[in-house]
Amino acid sequence: GAMKVHAAFQQRMAEKNLPFVLELREENDNSGKTAFTRSGCQGFCQMGPLVTVLPENILYTQVKPADIDEIIETSLIGGGVVERLLYSEPGNGHACKGTDDIPFYTRQQRFVLGDCGTIDPESIDEYLRNGGYEAAKKAFLQMSPEAICTEISESGLRGRGGGGFPTGRKWEAARRQAGDKKYVICNADEGDPGAFMNRSVMEGNPHSVIEGLMIAARAIGADETLVYVRAEYPLAVERMRRAVKDATARGILGENVFGSGLNISCEIMEGAGAFVCGEETAMIASIEGQRGMPRPKPPFPAQSGLWGKPTIINNVETLAHAVRIVREGAIRFRQLGTPGSPGTKTFALTGHVANTGLIEVPFGTTLREIVHNIGGGVTKSDGSIDPTGFKAVQIGGPSGGCLTQEHLDLPMDFDSLRTVGAMVGSGGLVAMNQDTCMVSVARFFMEFTQRESCGKCVLCREGTRQMLALMDDIIEGRADETTLPLLRELAVAVQKGSLCGLGKTAPNPVLSTLRHFPEEYEAHVRDKV
Ligand code: SF4
Repeated sequence: GAMKVHAAFQQRMAEKNLPFVLELREENDNSGKTAFTRSGCQGFCQMGPLVTVLPENILYTQVKPADIDEIIETSLIGGGVVERLLYSEPGNGHACKGTDDIPFYTRQQRFVLGDCGTIDPESIDEYLRNGGYEAAKKAFLQMSPEAICTEISESGLRGRGGGGFPTGRKWEAARRQAGDKKYVICNADEGDPGAFMNRSVMEGNPHSVIEGLMIAARAIGADETLVYVRAEYPLAVERMRRAVKDATARGILGENVFGSGLNISCEIMEGAGAFVCGEETAMIASIEGQRGMPRPKPPFPAQSGLWGKPTIINNVETLAHAVRIVREGAIRFRQLGTPGSPGTKTFALTGHVANTGLIEVPFGTTLREIVHNIGGGVTKSDGSIDPTGFKAVQIGGPSGGCLTQEHLDLPMDFDSLRTVGAMVGSGGLVAMNQDTCMVSVARFFMEFTQRESCGKCVLCREGTRQMLALMDDIIEGRADETTLPLLRELAVAVQKGSLCGLGKTAPNPVLSTLRHFPEEYEAHVRDKV
């Protein structure tokens, strides 16, 4: 409904003959006009559409076109506050005036998402006014490729797409490859159910992705970059294309970048909706016009990637972090997070929590903080808060696992999560209350990976199909005492016999729910329901 609110606002301001401009004012603008602009997602999805009045920083939530007259009269003209549209804290009913008063925001540390929701994503001028492209300029004019790789390595940045591989090591490997043709690809093929972090960054701050790509290209000596983005994200595609066009028109992309004598291009390519194309080698095959299927590694893409040339592939969020590291330095980046997982991570928080949305927290933040304090607590089916209702979260989408009560105080980082059989993944976090059937949750993810298997390996193609059939037997009352041992055996076989991450991790949701909720599987088998 945000676009309807936006259009209605514009219309009513014009009808009321209010002087307004469509772009944010310069700080010293004394024209007396009201600036009116749109932004990308502000993350507080549960409460959208959102309208922020500045400089008072009043945040109006769940705004409808019918509310606009009151906002204009009371807030813009009268200088007051429309109390009924403020966010009210669950539990104590405290009316929060703005983002600096709402726990959903105050308990986060937003860097990658920092400008999403404040700047107009379709205005390169706003990005430039906020220090945009300064890091790229620094990388091209003041830093050598070695220095950039060193800075990224010292920051400890790990890939935010799921694997957590050290980004600096990847860049350094590609930099050391001989040859004058190299590529950088941005992996924006975010396909996990419940994950929409990359989408939000591309829609809300597309130039940050381009700037990250430019820095990566400079670090490895590439002159061509590509963004491989899901076709199911039409607004992200549109905004990325516009950002490339605007950056090219300003001479930021193209020939002789910042007068460095180097050239950089950026192409936006739409993926056709295959989840497996998020895997690096499958993505490269897809870009080359082949069927998107993974191939064995080595050679790694950093050695032989797109068209056989050294190529690095980084996730949207990883590239956005690289911009900040080059701008502010590795030491600053390391001030947040844990020694093994520095920096922040974005999560898409969905499911049975009061505040669903996009959040960004330092690695090491506990699940309790995310679910109860930022998420506002677990909800029952009727939407009310249930302080004891937490059952589990599924983290990392179909490749991940579930975390339960016993993990509420576990610091969330790459290594801690691995020790309990889960993974950060790309950042999907689906919270579940006590009414949730964990067997059905595991079946949902099983069906997803089964459908998305590319079919190359027998154990992934046929094994996931048989696992799904066994899950159906369990849920539909056809299972007997042989079913659960067979399901476990097959799960291990699929893990071991699959080529790529999709197959290797496909059994994770089943195995982790079997480990944490065996009684639910046993009850299905015993009671035949
Ligand atoms: Fe394809 Fe599955 Fe094999 Fe991966 S593991 S290559 S998705 S069949």
